[in-house]
Amino acid sequence: MPGMGDRPDFTLEQLTGRARDHLVELSEPRCALHREVVGPFLAMRAAAAADGIDLVAFSSFRDFDRQLAIWNGKFRGERELLDRTGRSLQPLNLTAGERVAAILCWSAMPGASRHHWGTDFDVMDLAALPAGYKPRLVPEEYAPGGPFHRLAAWLDAHMHAFGFFRPYTRDRGGVVPEPWHLSHAPVAARAERALSVDRLRDVLAGSGIEGKEALLAGLEENFRRYVLNVDPAPECAALAPRLA
Ligand SMILES: [Zn+2]
Repeated sequence: MPGMGDRPDFTLEQLTGRARDHLVELSEPRCALHREVVGPFLAMRAAAAADGIDLVAFSSFRDFDRQLAIWNGKFRGERELLDRTGRSLQPLNLTAGERVAAILCWSAMPGASRHHWGTDFDVMDLAALPAGYKPRLVPEEYAPGGPFHRLAAWLDAHMHAFGFFRPYTRDRGGVVPEPWHLSHAPVAARAERALSVDRLRDVLAGSGIEGKEALLAGLEENFRRYVLNVDPAPECAALAPRLA
């Protein structure tokens, strides 16, 4: 069986969403995932299908520029900016530091999104989607009574067998809970280890990010609170990502 040593690990460009050469693009279902995550994802999708669930990754790889556009749009008030509790804010009434803090509750800073790695993606169940219903991506949709609760319960029971876990299940004072966000633990752990605050600082300093001064001034704290502060993956022994 091939070991981890056979693969070059994440480059800085891959870690920060500025390369795609770690990815495989799938057409059915359409998504882009890390080459080592495609097998576990498709195996989990097949197992879910056997239980009547059409599990898709509606958002998978996202690159640096896309994350930058989201960030800058919120900072400038061109996209809705929310506080931690989901209330709409007027960004032009806020200091740069306050805007940065609000954005980070909901959106990763470019260069530090787990979506850059190809190991993380957002899921829904197309089979449970009511006709004409537009998903809002709120936790209630994955809670009892919501259209994706059956998917969420299925994931609770089965995702670990395929190596997946949820990094954002509860409010840890960082990113708000995202029950739809899954991560492939063994590969994501390698990316987490490789990304450092100093490497990220260099990338952000050279970018066109809005609020750069405020973001970089608090980067160590922001990195701890919003990047490293995720739910722990189950012990590797509990995961069975090995595929024949
Ligand atoms: Zn996500």
